[in-house]
Amino acid sequence: MYYDAFEKTPEIRVLPDPSPTENGVVIKVEATGLCRSDWHGWMGHDPDIRLPHVPGHELAGTIAAAGRAVMRYKVGDRVTVPFVSGCGRCGECRSGNQQVCEAQFQPGFTHWGSFAEYVAIDFADQNLVHLPESMDFATAASLGCRFATSFRAVADQARVKGGEWVAVHGCGGVGLSAIMIAAALGAHPIAIDISAEKLAFAQQVGAVAAINARETDDVAAAVKEITQRRACVDRCARLPRHLLQFNQESAPPRPPRPGGPDAGRTRHASNSDGPGDRPRTRNLWLPRHAGLALRCHAGDDYGRQARSHASDRPRDFAGRGGAGTGGDGPGD
Ligand SMILES: [Zn+2]
Ligand SMILES: [Zn+2]
Repeated sequence: MYYDAFEKTPEIRVLPDPSPTENGVVIKVEATGLCRSDWHGWMGHDPDIRLPHVPGHELAGTIAAAGRAVMRYKVGDRVTVPFVSGCGRCGECRSGNQQVCEAQFQPGFTHWGSFAEYVAIDFADQNLVHLPESMDFATAASLGCRFATSFRAVADQARVKGGEWVAVHGCGGVGLSAIMIAAALGAHPIAIDISAEKLAFAQQVGAVAAINARETDDVAAAVKEITQRRACVDRCARLPRHLLQFNQESAPPRPPRPGGPDAGRTRHASNSDGPGDRPRTRNLWLPRHAGLALRCHAGDDYGRQARSHASDRPRDFAGRGGAGTGGDGPGD
């Protein structure tokens, strides 16, 4: 699938087969996913895309050719790959933050992608993942974008443990993945969405409770009721809606002080953006787009931090729905 102008109907074209770089492979695509980020790319929202372009970044398949320097993979191997492939050598990669690698390779964004019979992937040894025979290609193709994003947030950043409550706002690809991962870790996921159909599916894949935000005046209060006030919901400005918000406390939250700044409203669930009502967090890690973490200290303005952080890092996905833009993320 090919387009040579943004927002123009893509066409099916016969194009030359790719060849591998010295450190890369060519994969025969057996399954590929469709993602909200593909739409953003086609709309021209991603400055990494150079026309003409072949989209597609959620893929699994069989290696058809391998570069001379590839050591760990060979022709015929069944593999998948994260949608951001890090170089493995730069400071970000060495610190475990391959998703913000300065030399990253993204099929379907920085390079031609997987809406094709063959796709080239660079940095193969650092990024490919062998598939067990028991996993089919369609399942594997769902892992590299929405699942990887959610896994980083739920397991690495939030460090969810068994028995904890996790509220997931938005049950698209990333949200449903977060619910499955949280359930697999032994936690109790609560699904929140405005679609009854999505909520029903969320409960099939592991959510222990569902809240329809269209029919619920105070979602935070509903979460507290379900968790018997063991969860404390903080509201943070500009938090991407598919990310998780939770800040667990073993004791119920303290009631507002009479006459204090919180008097007369639910302490952690304000809907006002007034200057006296800045969203505040209490020293927790907030996972942001593609797993990039922001450290928020008590009293910090999350939106201000997110914007300054985004301007510090030109390749941190700010233009693709990061916290500073309030847009949609991958897998939505
Ligand atoms: Zn790197
Ligand atoms: Zn995606």
